[in-house]
Amino acid sequence: VALCEAEEAPPTYSRPYVGESRFNWKLFWQFLRPHNLLVLGVAIVLALGAALVNVQIPLLLGQLVEIVAKYTRDHVGSFLTESRNLSTHLLILYGVQVQQEGGPGGTQRSLPGAPEQDIAFFDAKKTGQLVSRLTTDVQEFKSSFKLVISQGLRSCTQVAGCLVSLSMLSTRLTLLLMVATPMLMGVGTLMGSALRKLSRQCQEQVARATGVADEALGNVRTVRAFAMENREEERYGAELEESRCKAEELGRGIALFQGLSNIAFNCMVLGTLFIGGSLVAGQQLRGGDLMSFLVASQTVQRSMANLSVLFGQVVRGLSAGARVFEYMTLSPCIPLSGGCHIPREHLHGAITFHNVCFSYPCRPGFQVLKDFSLTLPPGKIVALVGQSGGGKTTVASLLERFYDPTAGMVTLDGRDLRTLDPSWLRGQVIGFISQEPVLFGTTIMENIRFGKMGASDEEVYAAAREANAHEFITSFPEGYNTIVGERGATLSGGQKQRLAIARALIKQPTVLILDEATSALDSESERVVQEALDRASTGRTVLVIAHRLSTVRGAHHIVVMARGQVCEVGTHEELLKKGGLYAELIRRQALDTPAPEMPR
Ligand code: ADP
Ligand code: MG
Repeated sequence: VALCEAEEAPPTYSRPYVGESRFNWKLFWQFLRPHNLLVLGVAIVLALGAALVNVQIPLLLGQLVEIVAKYTRDHVGSFLTESRNLSTHLLILYGVQVQQEGGPGGTQRSLPGAPEQDIAFFDAKKTGQLVSRLTTDVQEFKSSFKLVISQGLRSCTQVAGCLVSLSMLSTRLTLLLMVATPMLMGVGTLMGSALRKLSRQCQEQVARATGVADEALGNVRTVRAFAMENREEERYGAELEESRCKAEELGRGIALFQGLSNIAFNCMVLGTLFIGGSLVAGQQLRGGDLMSFLVASQTVQRSMANLSVLFGQVVRGLSAGARVFEYMTLSPCIPLSGGCHIPREHLHGAITFHNVCFSYPCRPGFQVLKDFSLTLPPGKIVALVGQSGGGKTTVASLLERFYDPTAGMVTLDGRDLRTLDPSWLRGQVIGFISQEPVLFGTTIMENIRFGKMGASDEEVYAAAREANAHEFITSFPEGYNTIVGERGATLSGGQKQRLAIARALIKQPTVLILDEATSALDSESERVVQEALDRASTGRTVLVIAHRLSTVRGAHHIVVMARGQVCEVGTHEELLKKGGLYAELIRRQALDTPAPEMPR
């Protein structure tokens, strides 16, 4: 065990989903094409339209000012008639602009593909990471895609369009602007990136504080049992204080940034007015054109500021998109379904392991099973015993086809498991009961029905009776509608295990795997659960994995395994007489007789 723990450090899993991946444009296009090309086209047209409107507005404003100026000089004609057309035009454009501000809606896609991955995939991934991909990455990608279309396209067009009109209005002013703006933008970008860094630190700190709270709340029983509430609270308080400081710092930074950018902005306006004004005075520019210039240059500045924010967003969006696509394209090695079924009337339930070798995909150098052979005759109970870490659970996982053997094969009624439909195998042939039953936070009824979708209430009751669970369930005020709490927190260990048994029995499995099903229980619940298991075992092919040898005495065969190999086979008496490893294990367990009651 120490050896494999030492090997645990670097995950040497060489499947494609390890490491940063690049954004896959081709795939992105494929996903896009069938659904949304039309929507996308409309969005692009709208964005371009908005940009053109925004380029038009300054010019119209300039013309209006020119008319105003004309009327302040010499009061001939009707101001209203002359300006009416222009004003209406402007009003319409403003209306169009408001309506387009809403921007095109995003295209909603959820991330499929997570639950059907191989078990090996889950060995190498943290659940938190997966959940984050399901939520934040999809969100992030979606919003940046939307931004690029609605804002990016528009801002680019606006910058280009306004620059053209600016240079037509006044080349000299435009040149000045072209020098000043990038300088200011550079300073702004630097400050912005410092702020972003600060904001990231702030978020991380909040996440740390949340993590502390999460851990303390999640393990509230342990915290209470050690009377550590105060210490946990202090820990949380300290983290919170830290994030408050960070948030304040960020707030000050943002205030400074906004103040400075306001000043810069106003200085630009003032500068333009000053220089432009002297041009007007020297008759080199018309007043209206100066007005157009001012408004257009502000449009340019706003668009460029938009673009710089957008750039950061796009970088993040692309990497989020790359991560999302990675999961969408990853196809599991062991499919969820597809393959032959054996009709129920021909199904005997004979299992054989033929010289199976196996190492876990995330730890390829370490061979867990070496040339392992085992036969489970139909309708018989075979017990698998051996030291902890010897590979017993691994045998069960291969039988469930959570993994495929690296060499050799596992057969059911002589057929290679790889040719059979995995969902049929798991859903209808094999019932699996493990040491740590996992229940879902819903009603007892639904938890049992999880074993067979669409089972009738009668079937649920029957399975519960068979699992010795009906009595305690009906003793609850809500009966079968009792909610079991998150992970079954409101039930005792023995009750949870009996629900898990009912859940496995409802599908009437031909093969039953019991992986240390009673070893976490106290002796009283063990007796009730064992009774249910004994009843469930009759007439089925059963693989009993047991650490505690008292539970395997009744098995037809006992297989002793050590270091991934079978080293003894026989009945209890035969093996005792032989005086090998089994006899040694029995002798050792007899020495610590009080031990069985102790939680391991
Ligand atoms: P047992 O059930 O007999 O206690 P297991 O089959 O659980 O033993 O484990 C056998 C060996 O395989 C152990 O060395 C264990 O560290 C390793 N192992 C178990 N599960 C995994 C896994 N998901 N990934 C990598 N190694 C594993
Ligand atoms: Mg085990």
